[in-house]
Amino acid sequence: MSNMSETIRVTPAKTSKSIEQPSCRLCGSSLGEPFLNLGQQPLCESILRKDQLNQMEPFFPLQVYLCDECMLVQLDQYVSPDHIFSEYAYFSSYSDTWLKHSQAYVQKMIETFELGPQSLVVELASNDGYLLQYFVQRGVPVLGIEPAANVAKVAVEKGVTTRVKFFGVKTAEEEIAGGTQADLLIGNNVLAQVPDLHDFVEGMRLLLKPHGLITMEFPHLMQLLESNQFDTIYHEHFSYFSLAVVERLFSEHGLRVFDVEELPTHGGSLRIYACHFHDWKLATQRLEDLRTQEDVYGLDRFECYTAFAERVRETKWKLLEFMIDAKRSGRQIVGYGAPGKGNTLLNYCGIRTDFLDYVVDRNPYKQGKFLPGTHIPIYHPSKLQETKPDHVLILPWNLKAEVMSHISYIREWGGQFVVPIPEVEVFS
Ligand SMILES: [Zn+2]
Repeated sequence: MSNMSETIRVTPAKTSKSIEQPSCRLCGSSLGEPFLNLGQQPLCESILRKDQLNQMEPFFPLQVYLCDECMLVQLDQYVSPDHIFSEYAYFSSYSDTWLKHSQAYVQKMIETFELGPQSLVVELASNDGYLLQYFVQRGVPVLGIEPAANVAKVAVEKGVTTRVKFFGVKTAEEEIAGGTQADLLIGNNVLAQVPDLHDFVEGMRLLLKPHGLITMEFPHLMQLLESNQFDTIYHEHFSYFSLAVVERLFSEHGLRVFDVEELPTHGGSLRIYACHFHDWKLATQRLEDLRTQEDVYGLDRFECYTAFAERVRETKWKLLEFMIDAKRSGRQIVGYGAPGKGNTLLNYCGIRTDFLDYVVDRNPYKQGKFLPGTHIPIYHPSKLQETKPDHVLILPWNLKAEVMSHISYIREWGGQFVVPIPEVEVFS
């Protein structure tokens, strides 16, 4: 869940890229050649206003590396998080599926770990309070830490105490000095956006009470590869995690993963449970099982990644074949949703208004603006009723069931849904 601004001022994180060989964010080794090249791309969340369409737009290489020392899959960093988070356009509460997921999580944590008025729940990158609000409703004290001021403000209005800050050792120390330590420390879909992983995880260790619990959710690298989710790769996501790599990262900071759940969110995520290294919590069988699954899948072998890169190219060819055929037959194609992942797909495939007339999005912040790079206009969903398109390409494919039910009325005029990932599929 990432996403952001119309006001990004891009300053390259480094200059003179051409002579500098990137090094691994986790272990510091020198990275070799990228195994996947998605071309030159704009920052996928920097949607444009009309008056920006004639201005120069920054594009950066979108290339994916595998560290052959620690096996972390990562991008070179072109933008600093200050720029990404200055004003976030993403409000988690615009997704019903995500809200339900969050509510179920809160229910489970309160029951399983007996959280109550005496506990403190801290969430890192707490967004608009989409999750912490459910703890507040149940009388459990919370603290959100969120770098984007505009979404933090919405959280505070909901009664979710929120500090506008980046998280790391410095923030953890400030909170501890103010008497704050967490019984439950949550980080959902944030690890990918952390430039300094060691500072972040060390901060978590500090902020966690001696018998406190960490849960983190992140898209599972194995699912990304297996289900061909290359569109979830974008500049704002610096790292892509397997269980094995997260376990290595945590162990370097005296933390231990003791349990893991596989979740359907974001195309397949992991929720890890971690504690201080010497806490008594026992490792579960499903943790052991998932370690084995990752080994069998071959996440530690380079061929696994080159085969993925091959599938990505094949998907581009197939999607373009479908679209060229539709356009030659005089059919209108539009897009649903303006998520970050849509932009990676559209820019990589070279799909502009010559294929997609427009996209619609429920988020009023995005309506009336344009997608980065492709400059496809974004409208309110009511535009669909107006033009009655033949095909609606669902860009947030992870929410396809939700989208199909929201706009099932396109079937009244024979409209069809098209889902691009894992492979092009038409639903009539
Ligand atoms: Zn490494």
